[in-house]
Amino acid sequence: MIDRLDLFVIGGGSGGVACARRAASYGAKVALAEDSRLGGTCVIRGCVPKKLMHYGAGVPHELDVARDMGWSFGEVRHDFRFFLEARNREIARLEDIYQGLLDRSGVRVVKARARVAGRDGEDFVVEAGQERFRTRRVMIATGGTPYVPDLPGIEHVVTSDHVLEDVYDRPGRVAVIGAGYIGVELGCVFHGFGAKTTLILRGDAPLRGFDEDLRHQLNQQIAESGVEIMPRSVVTSIERTADGLVLHGLERSVTADLVLYATGRRPQPRTSGIGLEALGIEMDYEGAILVDETYTSNVPGLLAVGDCSDHAGHGLDSGQHDLTPVAIAEGRAVAERFFNNRIQRVRYDTIATAIFSSPEAAACGMTEVRARAEGHDVLIFKANFRPMRTTMGQHAHRTFMKLVVDKHTDKVLGCHLVGPDTPEIIQMVAAAMTAGATKADFDDTVAVHPTAAEELVTMYQPVQD
Ligand code: FAD
Repeated sequence: MIDRLDLFVIGGGSGGVACARRAASYGAKVALAEDSRLGGTCVIRGCVPKKLMHYGAGVPHELDVARDMGWSFGEVRHDFRFFLEARNREIARLEDIYQGLLDRSGVRVVKARARVAGRDGEDFVVEAGQERFRTRRVMIATGGTPYVPDLPGIEHVVTSDHVLEDVYDRPGRVAVIGAGYIGVELGCVFHGFGAKTTLILRGDAPLRGFDEDLRHQLNQQIAESGVEIMPRSVVTSIERTADGLVLHGLERSVTADLVLYATGRRPQPRTSGIGLEALGIEMDYEGAILVDETYTSNVPGLLAVGDCSDHAGHGLDSGQHDLTPVAIAEGRAVAERFFNNRIQRVRYDTIATAIFSSPEAAACGMTEVRARAEGHDVLIFKANFRPMRTTMGQHAHRTFMKLVVDKHTDKVLGCHLVGPDTPEIIQMVAAAMTAGATKADFDDTVAVHPTAAEELVTMYQPVQD
């Protein structure tokens, strides 16, 4: 047993690393355990490899736009394995950077699975690999894992973990089951790389929880780009045949070389079997640790942030919570409160989120449905146009913009965008909304011309009900 720690962090992903580094910067004695690769989901098998694949898959569209502008090329070829290997080299570089950041912060890193072994008076005892630690506080930041339903043939399918971390041959036909943002993004990625792609979803349109207009605009544009979308469909079994994997239970059977399940992520099983049950930690049915506004569980000193945690009252529409910057903000808020005596609240109401699909989409704040459900009398402003960059040819995505405004206070409650560069645009809309911007503030802002974003400050006429 080594000397008593101030904090032991279980999980070296976005939330855990942010918390450990910030706490150590205030002189706390901190150790962190990671049983896979430092960086966690975001760096190793989430945001970063996904965005690199989004860039790679977008190149054929760029070439189409270039042709519309008079460029011509010889035969265009792509080496998929070369691309995945280059992607993985970049991820390995980032992983090393994480190790260096923790080392320089003075955080002791243990590359092992950790569990809370029990109590020693007021302290917790944590086991990681062969080592035992005594610590005043434990932070659980174990993230989530893909959830896959149990049905015949499920052993043939893959999840985002495989698609984003491994190296494999380019599939000719891909079926994606599930149309949350991960399913939509990866479906568009494979389509961009030339696979015949089918997106299979239970509901009417992708991205449940997002604004209805955003969902339907994106649905239409993705379908027009050539992705086959099968709404109101449930796969009941998967069969391996000589021709590929056959999905049964659908209106017509679908055969694919790669079947990707993107049917949600859960904190379990990572929050199971690590000593939390014995301590009587309260969790929800998916294994999320229930915490209060200080990210403390029902057991004082045992904290949780990021994807493995849940706390009531953050007022989010679904799809806006399990995100890297949220985990980081929560991790830092914990370090500030307990090691710097400073209360730093996370603003959940203006968290912006992006969908790196083709075309891209982004949102911040309330959907129209939610705003009305919460009793706001709303004005809706919309714009729908062809972005200038693609007006000279055949290969245009359309851009859609929507503002949800409170009629009485004039406050901008929500912003929902579809189109190129909208993830870049939404960040500054979120800053304005965090500052409490009204529609009049948007109107008083002189436009940058010619841009797509200028539409947001020149939408004068609300849509009539
Ligand atoms: P994680 O980053 O998952 O880290 C948890 C870590 O804990 C893991 O490294 C795990 O190995 C480790 N661990 C678990 N149990 C133990 C144990 N007992 N002992 C030791 N170590 C343990 N978010 C965005 O903001 N933007 C995006 O574009 C985006 N894209 C995504 C794309 C995909 C495909 C996925 C899956 C996620 C994406 N996310 C995105 C979500 C984002 O990755 C997560 O919200 C974020 O990583 C959560 O951070 P975390 O610290 O809670 O957990």
